[in-house]
Amino acid sequence: MANLLEVQQATKQFGNFTALQDVSIQVPKGSIFGLLGPNGAGKTTLIRIINQITLPDRGSVYLDNEPLKPQHIRDIGYLPEERGLYKSMKVGEQALYLAQLKGLSKAEAKERLTYWFDKFDISHWWNKKIQELSKGMAQKVQFIVTVLHKPKLLIFDEPFSGFDPINANVIKDEILQLRDEGATVIFSTHRMESVEELCDHIALINKSKKILEGKVTDIKRAYKSNTFEVGILTENNTDLYTTLQGKFDVTPADFKTIDDQLKMKITLDNNTSSNELLQYLSDKGQIMRFNEVIPGVNEIFIKTITENE
Ligand code: ADP
Ligand code: MG
Repeated sequence: MANLLEVQQATKQFGNFTALQDVSIQVPKGSIFGLLGPNGAGKTTLIRIINQITLPDRGSVYLDNEPLKPQHIRDIGYLPEERGLYKSMKVGEQALYLAQLKGLSKAEAKERLTYWFDKFDISHWWNKKIQELSKGMAQKVQFIVTVLHKPKLLIFDEPFSGFDPINANVIKDEILQLRDEGATVIFSTHRMESVEELCDHIALINKSKKILEGKVTDIKRAYKSNTFEVGILTENNTDLYTTLQGKFDVTPADFKTIDDQLKMKITLDNNTSSNELLQYLSDKGQIMRFNEVIPGVNEIFIKTITENE
């Protein structure tokens, strides 16, 4: 798959402090690319470099195989981490103004804004002043303004912070839809657990360095350990547990059930298939749960950091 964006070995220092060190990423066309890492990792610095707000000390950025240039700003929709709207301006007036800055005619801007305000059910905000809106409300307006000119690359810096779970889901769904309509999306977040389903590609950034990048499914496959979570209803939990321990690598597991199942994690060696395990278990009791343990991005992140230290 062709890449829409490539960053090659970007480095940025602020005084003696290295905010970004030799970070490269490849963002495939049509992907949702998650830039993940704790606070202070360097995500915003990288995003600001891509948006030509910050110049890197070293490294280069290519959009559609061309070195980044000022005209590319038109191709990118950028929702910054600090959301700045003019507090005393009216919502509609401001949205129209910002849309025209992005190159839309007034009529076109009005038409598209009407569509989005209807979609988000916020048409009654049109004549309110920004200062009358809550943080989440203002953020919705800014989200609309970011995507309105239909740029090929959308960059959202911490798009979910400031939203309640319901509105965060609205934004998640919109991001998926924008991707389906052909946009490429990069977003950053420090909350890894909640968004991994959204991204098809991720880069993990820690302390100014990229520690892992790739397709989410490939990364998960590489980190999975042939482990299954098993729950069995049986006459005697202790007996069965002891028997299984003699045959497999078994550890206790803790998941919620309404009855007293024997709960455990069983890790198989590479010569044993899940069907063989299932067959072995099937006459030991009533199997209530049998599922593969797939590591979460957060777990993978922690594991990668520990391995690299
Ligand atoms: P993230 O977005 O991952 O939370 P940032 O890219 O905002 O991280 O920041 C990375 C580090 O660089 C932080 O320690 C931050 O304090 C520092 N930093 C960012 N911008 C500046 C700046 N303009 N001047 C000095 N230090 C900065
Ligand atoms: Mg940030």
